[in-house]
Amino acid sequence: MIQEQRIVSHFTSLVAIDAPSRGERALAEVVKSQLRDLGLSIEEDQAKEAIGGDCNNIYATWPGTLDWPPLVFCAHFDTVEPGKGKRAVIRPDGIITSGGDTVLGADDLSGLTAIVEAIRSIREDGQEHRTVELFLTVAEEQHLLGSTHAELDRLKGRQAYVLDASGSPGTAIVQAPGNIGLVFDLQGHSAHAGMEPEKGVSAITAAAKGIAAMRLGRIDDETTANIGRICGGGATNIVADACTVTAECRSRDAAKLEAQADQMCAAMEKAARDLGARVAIQRHVSYRPYAVSPQSPVLARFQAACRKLGLAGALQPGGGGSDNNTLCEAGFDGIVLTCGMDQVHSCQERIAIRDLVDTARLVESLITEP
Ligand SMILES: [Zn+2]
Repeated sequence: MIQEQRIVSHFTSLVAIDAPSRGERALAEVVKSQLRDLGLSIEEDQAKEAIGGDCNNIYATWPGTLDWPPLVFCAHFDTVEPGKGKRAVIRPDGIITSGGDTVLGADDLSGLTAIVEAIRSIREDGQEHRTVELFLTVAEEQHLLGSTHAELDRLKGRQAYVLDASGSPGTAIVQAPGNIGLVFDLQGHSAHAGMEPEKGVSAITAAAKGIAAMRLGRIDDETTANIGRICGGGATNIVADACTVTAECRSRDAAKLEAQADQMCAAMEKAARDLGARVAIQRHVSYRPYAVSPQSPVLARFQAACRKLGLAGALQPGGGGSDNNTLCEAGFDGIVLTCGMDQVHSCQERIAIRDLVDTARLVESLITEP
């Protein structure tokens, strides 16, 4: 049986361990030893060197008693800031919150504890089960840095459930946008702003005109674009010779994603050219969009489990990236599951105990049903 007391105490004990992106080692060691005690074999890759962290991605296998296709369950170790000194507060109404000065870390400890509780329950009850592979990642919150440097051929299964979405359990994210990051380095020419401004070329003015010519915000129902940061200039009496602009665009359609990035680059290039400035552009695909086939067995299994447990079994498009983008790009058939986390990436982050339990029941069903 899934045990509410046990999952709550596991969750709160993991919340108390600091696990910033690139600093997940302490949390990973605790979880590894718990998984070993449950009979899972554990491997690591070498991601930490590549990403400058203290911990690798973890791969853990629980051999099945049934000859069904193995399933991959994925969650990430890291939490966003402010995340040092997190503690879980259990309210009388069954909601777990942070202390109010940090995030809670239900993103993504809700997913992690649900997976572990499901394995504990199945093991304890001696239920027949398929082979389970855990893919536990680092630095997910840094544009999927950990999974991007993973060694996915360590996984035998090709069907994946990524437990990493807000909302009560019973909804699956079946498509998600890709993301392109842009950095524009504008180079103008400095001059005294009062004595001879006509001899200067303002990199800030070029940046402003370039941004003004970009399509930004919501472009259509599946495409967005945003300027994140502008940095440039110095004293008011100097025509600024340098300005850097960072931006991103997202779309669930791969062609629209590229077209949007093209438009932003062309707008900045034209503005720079018109003013006599130069621009160097760094363009980086952070992750690619995906859409799961409606015929996918991953979906059918999820919906059957939801029916059995009385959960909604709803399918939704997502607006953000997750490790599932990495898995789908590598050819996995994967969906992202909501696991109860709420108001993530804020100090108001919370989760209902009921949702922790239901997520564990859902994972248990996915492991023990065809
Ligand atoms: Zn997350």
